[in-house]
Amino acid sequence: MSTLVPPRLRNDTFAMPQGVEWVPVDEALELLRAALRPVTGTETLPVAQALGRVLAAPAVARRSNPPQPNSAVDGYGFAHAATGAGVQRLPLAEGRSAAGQPFDGALPEGMALRILTGAILPEGVDTVVLEEDCATDGRTISFDGPIKRGANTRKAGEDVAAGSEALAAGRMLSAADLALLTALGVGEVSVHRPLRVAVLSTGTELIADPAAPAAPHQIYDANRPMLLALLAGWGFVPVDLGHAPDDPAEIARRLDAGAREADAILTSGGASAGDEDHVSRLLGESGTLTSWRIAIKPGRPLALAMWQGVPVFGLPGNPVAAFTCALIFARPALLQLSGAGWRRSQGFAVPAAFAKRKKAGRREFLRARLNANGAAEVFASEGSGRISGLSWATGFVELPDEACDVAPGDPVRFLPYGAFGVSFGG
Ligand code: AMP
Ligand code: MG
Repeated sequence: MSTLVPPRLRNDTFAMPQGVEWVPVDEALELLRAALRPVTGTETLPVAQALGRVLAAPAVARRSNPPQPNSAVDGYGFAHAATGAGVQRLPLAEGRSAAGQPFDGALPEGMALRILTGAILPEGVDTVVLEEDCATDGRTISFDGPIKRGANTRKAGEDVAAGSEALAAGRMLSAADLALLTALGVGEVSVHRPLRVAVLSTGTELIADPAAPAAPHQIYDANRPMLLALLAGWGFVPVDLGHAPDDPAEIARRLDAGAREADAILTSGGASAGDEDHVSRLLGESGTLTSWRIAIKPGRPLALAMWQGVPVFGLPGNPVAAFTCALIFARPALLQLSGAGWRRSQGFAVPAAFAKRKKAGRREFLRARLNANGAAEVFASEGSGRISGLSWATGFVELPDEACDVAPGDPVRFLPYGAFGVSFGG
């Protein structure tokens, strides 16, 4: 088993051009895409164990699918050349061709042979007539011609030819991919090692255990289970760094652990420029912080930094903003680090079931879901403290950077959670 670990990312990975104030979402995504590259090593795995893993090299078909020309139906096979228009009568040959039990020999022209779905077409058979379209007395078959040459047959390699690329490098293997590779005789694949991503919550107000009593000033740490669950769903290995109070020494200790145990770190909280925003202060002192003020709602500055060679994504503390920024920024960045390549989430236009006037200057992601008519409703409150809206919604409506005036029935862009690889719910 060969393992190749790429070099670490440089300290200036997230450097931004001087003088940049508010970064539009698309520009921020483009900067991230350009800055990051795969950081995981590779390993060889049996296909059956490779679900959710990312191909490190193209998977090449060892065998064609189908491997041999075969019948697509249960029926009778014959040489097309011996048939024509009108009622056709062909004497039946002895024997049959079934899946796994090929007919031994060649079928003489002008005769027909019983053939079943998946059976190899023997020499002398290029066309199959469907059983239901035939009458037979056991010695002869008859059917109405003409029938198209090659009807109800599959050509060898018509799906995938041996030697051709079945799946490209960067492909995250699905259940369907396991079927495809197995059909093509591919037993092992070279895949990236799963990206390990550490999660740290920060805030003196946080307590971890929702079953434990909380003092009035305390807040249950909602971001950590959410982020760990998102990461697991995306095929990464989540590493739990717990929560730290707003204490730089403690946060630094946790980041050290994260850099040892993971390929990337997500923090939440303390990412702005306030008195208690120790994450951004600390990352700034480590000399590699870039605080990106991204023109997005919900969301506040996204802190991007390198900590001991490991990229840190400093998400906002507010759970709605943390969720949104994780989906929009962290996920594509982590996919890029994992070898899966950059992904743009695929949305689609639906009619709005709401009205809204939006000012220019930042992109807005509204918690939304489709109603019975396929129109997008938005959550009653845009307040980013309303965590329940994330559960209510099944996706986002994305409103453009520019000003817009949405009236009911106007087309808006809906991005289902599924477009961000987020499943469950509803
Ligand atoms: P911050 O970004 O640290 O200023 O936090 C913004 C808001 O989000 C504050 O009201 C915090 O109490 C809250 N918050 C921060 N982290 C979490 C968390 N892990 N779970 C729930 N709420 C949080
Ligand atoms: Mg805080």
